[in-house]
Amino acid sequence: MNIIITGASKGIGYAIAEIFAANGHDLYLTSKTISSLDQAVATLRDQFPTIHIESCAADLSVKSEVVNFSKWCLEKTTPHILVNNAGNFVPGKLQDEEDGQLEQQLNTNLFSAYHLTRALLPAMLNNKLGHIFNICSIASLSAYENGGAYSISKFALLGFSKNLRLELKDTGIKVTAVCPGAVFTNSWAGSGVDPKRIMEASDIAKMIYAATQLSAQAVVEDIVMRPQLGDL
Ligand code: NAP
Repeated sequence: MNIIITGASKGIGYAIAEIFAANGHDLYLTSKTISSLDQAVATLRDQFPTIHIESCAADLSVKSEVVNFSKWCLEKTTPHILVNNAGNFVPGKLQDEEDGQLEQQLNTNLFSAYHLTRALLPAMLNNKLGHIFNICSIASLSAYENGGAYSISKFALLGFSKNLRLELKDTGIKVTAVCPGAVFTNSWAGSGVDPKRIMEASDIAKMIYAATQLSAQAVVEDIVMRPQLGDL
């Protein structure tokens, strides 16, 4: 299978790339910064020398860059699994976050996934099979202190996932919304949080991989995961 993963240079996206490569799948990866993407690809190629791995950097908060990335994907491969993982976390209160924060969070966390999915869908529909994962958050499920624009963008991504699943249910393409609580990645580095208090990126990757292993007639609609000790 061919797996397209956004935000694959680190964190959850990188862990997803690792697990699919370990299971023999080819990877088409993107993230914003070319140097960290190249580094991630070099490490994955060392680890999995028989796997075909290609990459193309893009700022997915910019629609024209999403469109260019989708063209690159379609020239290189037939997409089977798309993981819309790229995102960034900017905490804040709605009443005092900076002007433009909602637009920035929607561009990065919602429109990236919306535009990329729409661009790749015709090829996936031709195949009559596929699986789209949207990496939402527990911030998609309920309000919390300092959720702000981030939480709004993640609620919207969950809404996108639900509508997409309904539209695609007769097409053979599955849609899974992944809603993790705290996962120890760059977002938490320097926060002082004990890495053992929260989840590992590989925990999320394992559940995503497992969701791809079911019969054609079964779909995992939502994956909700939290640290064993609960939210922070
Ligand atoms: P991370 O370690 O900071 O990695 C984020 C990845 O997304 C990087 O590869 C980054 O590339 C890429 N990215 C960010 N903005 C981008 C843009 N405009 N265009 C293209 N790529 C971009 O983050 P993470 O913690 O693994 O989070 C991954 C996803 O999980 C996000 O959607 C996040 O909201 C969600 N999530 C995380 C947690 C958590 O606790 N960590 C919990 C729930 C949900 P560059 O480094 O080049 O910018």
